[in-house]
Amino acid sequence: MPTSTELHFAAKEFMVRYGGDTFPNLFRSAKGAVVIDDTGREILDFTSGQMCATIGHNHPAIVAAVQKAGEEAFHMFSGMIPEVVAELATTMAQDWMPESLTKSIFVNTGSESNEIALRMAKMYTGGYEVLAVGGSWHGVTGGSSSVSFASDRKGYGVSTPGVYVLPEPNDYRPYIKGMNGEESALTCLEIGLKMFDMASSGRPAAIIIEPIISAGGVLVPPKSYMQALRKAADERGMLLIFDEAQTAFGRIGQRTASDLFGVVPDIMSVSKTMGGGLPLAATVTTAQIEQAVHERGFTFYTSHVSDPLPARVGLAVLNTIRNEDLIRRAQSTGSYLRSRLLELQTRYESIGDVRGEGLLLGVELVADRESRNPAHELGALTTQRCFELGLSMNIRRRPERGSVWRIAPPLTVEHKQIDQAVDILDRALRESLDKMAGAC
Ligand code: PMP
Repeated sequence: MPTSTELHFAAKEFMVRYGGDTFPNLFRSAKGAVVIDDTGREILDFTSGQMCATIGHNHPAIVAAVQKAGEEAFHMFSGMIPEVVAELATTMAQDWMPESLTKSIFVNTGSESNEIALRMAKMYTGGYEVLAVGGSWHGVTGGSSSVSFASDRKGYGVSTPGVYVLPEPNDYRPYIKGMNGEESALTCLEIGLKMFDMASSGRPAAIIIEPIISAGGVLVPPKSYMQALRKAADERGMLLIFDEAQTAFGRIGQRTASDLFGVVPDIMSVSKTMGGGLPLAATVTTAQIEQAVHERGFTFYTSHVSDPLPARVGLAVLNTIRNEDLIRRAQSTGSYLRSRLLELQTRYESIGDVRGEGLLLGVELVADRESRNPAHELGALTTQRCFELGLSMNIRRRPERGSVWRIAPPLTVEHKQIDQAVDILDRALRESLDKMAGAC
């Protein structure tokens, strides 16, 4: 067994740095809403890992599912459909998806699920032009990264041609001065569509959106915006794709964001929240689209398509959400967390906005409420201090759209853990503000 010093050395010496900040410590284990580092310190995990562990880390149902898969099969030839995958496809169609979305394909990551969605839309329509939304994150693989705008695109060469970007709806920072969030969102959409129609080569394929733009700052579009997107897609013969990597399966207190907005896409991709921390993703579409692309030779044949291990876990996750009534719990716990954050906002000028749905919340930090200038330094200092005090939170800092914490604990989080987290946040904010005042 290597020593702790050796492992710290190895992490620095033998690993590629893959972006984002990494913590100075290494990590050993995770349970429920807590992660434990290599010193044995317990830290509240208010990001659910990478937004995946919705039923809590290492839930007994997941552990049992992995055990069962060990007795059945972890992996199979991709041309063999495991029984458990057929069972998961049934559950998806009958219990979780909007009525028209009955056909699923199961892969591993969100990036892949969006590759599939885009490939299906292109094959179905015969087009290649895709409209995406500013601030979105759909993944890092070729097609998915070409429709993503929340992180740096520089340095990787030419991305997929045919992508057009619409200005994202942002209720707190409307792009058009003098308009409220909804008016600005709808006007931006109208202008964006006019520009697209002007630029289009006449081969439109899809509009893709995260129904809640998460990495872009937890932006919740108005309902009218989602309805307008549906109409825009229909008018142009484009398919509407919802990327529900973060919003499906209870996170926002609904089965899906499609349910929340009352808008049904042609294709839905789901991932993070489906596998409870194991790599599982799916793309779901209508029988009609599936039939059409099948006839045209649709292929997405990967080593791990239809693998039984993640499917067994996915079934366990979906059953646990049902059995533990976690959708309702996300609503009530989400309101509680929101009320505690709103109370904090009454005491801190720097908390400009609290937003989100269910247990996917965003807290935007500003220099002051009048200017709404992003408080990047405060965000960095407070996040760091929270971690030292035992709370892990993710902050998104982009110069163009502010400094926003994304707060998304597991749906199983307890009220006392929320109290603990908000108390830590309170203290960290106070100390960071004092520190900044002292430095002036
Ligand atoms: N879609 C959304 C909305 C995401 O947030 C992410 C990951 N942050 C992805 C897709 C990509 O998923 P993955 O990292 O599993 O490829």
